[in-house]
Amino acid sequence: MNIKQYQRCTRCVMDTTDSKITFDENGLCDHCRNFDKNIAPYWKPSENRFAELEEISKKIRKAGRNRDYDCILGLSGGADSSYLAYIAKEIMHLRPLIYVVDTGWNLNVAVENIEKIVKGLNLDMYTDVINWKEMRDLQLAYFKSGISSQDFPQDHAIFSSLYNYAVKHGIKYVLTGSNSATEFIRPPVEWLYMNDLRMAKDIHKKFGTIPLKTYPTCGILKYRIWYRYFKGMKRVYPLDYVVYDKTKAEKFLNEQYGWTKYKNKHFENVFTRFFEGYYLPTKFGFDTRKNVLSNEILAGTKTREEALEILKNPPYDVSQALKDKSYVAKKLGITTEDFDSIIKGQNKTPDDYKNSFWMIKFGVFLCKLLGIENRNIR
Ligand SMILES: [Zn+2]
Repeated sequence: MNIKQYQRCTRCVMDTTDSKITFDENGLCDHCRNFDKNIAPYWKPSENRFAELEEISKKIRKAGRNRDYDCILGLSGGADSSYLAYIAKEIMHLRPLIYVVDTGWNLNVAVENIEKIVKGLNLDMYTDVINWKEMRDLQLAYFKSGISSQDFPQDHAIFSSLYNYAVKHGIKYVLTGSNSATEFIRPPVEWLYMNDLRMAKDIHKKFGTIPLKTYPTCGILKYRIWYRYFKGMKRVYPLDYVVYDKTKAEKFLNEQYGWTKYKNKHFENVFTRFFEGYYLPTKFGFDTRKNVLSNEILAGTKTREEALEILKNPPYDVSQALKDKSYVAKKLGITTEDFDSIIKGQNKTPDDYKNSFWMIKFGVFLCKLLGIENRNIR
């Protein structure tokens, strides 16, 4: 077996915990090289491209003529999607339907933020509440499977619910809060969510206990081919057209709508906090702060030294992690001891289950071949 030596990029803080990482002779990683080659030349962080945004907005408004809404926008209550809602309404003059998926894990701060944004901007909101028994069954099955991407049950439900709803109701434009300014480097596919429905079905077949009758699903082909090319669905990234300084955006949202900041990216949700802050780093050695901090280094908002200093501390308070573990266990309907022994089980990879990982690998290979980052592989 070829065991790689530990190595960390000389510019950012990504390292060999990303199994696909490669380094050049100067120790620069492929994420940084991709940034230099494909992103930096086009990235204009201090320039609003309102004219281009208006062109897009015109198309969206036209598509929505005589309809209740001209686009759909998934709101989590976090900074990106909240600021996006503001841009959509006040800058793009759109009529978005705010779409919220309740997976049972949202913290009050997220729920309150959603309410404040929706009220403050006078928008309509639709909430899809995922059947909790099914959600819990799939999540427990995932923990028992021993694989890393425990965020699948929740993220897949959020993503599928919104896309299925949009297609069903003829809403062609999906506004997303994804943006280059905070996402030059996405977490490697083995760290986080893979839209692999085949694997999910196999895991649930092996470890689940009740049938998933209402849990929303949307496989990669349905999304990438059917919805895109046959249903004409389009994703729009408005935050890429405006100056998106997250700190300023958060201040603005707070002053304007009373929005409250979370402590950490994606920590709006107890499950995500536990998963990214405890499960991934302790069981697999994956630390999602590395890609978040690396983004900040490339954006010039943090130095590498500051980032390394932050990484010396655990992702979140140990006593909070233990509290969250008990909370998650209780919510999943098992004892903390049982949960501990499940977490301590053997680490598995997608290869231990039926999967469509070859498609994802192929996508990554194709992207690398074409010189683009392995982003958006979902
Ligand atoms: Zn790097």
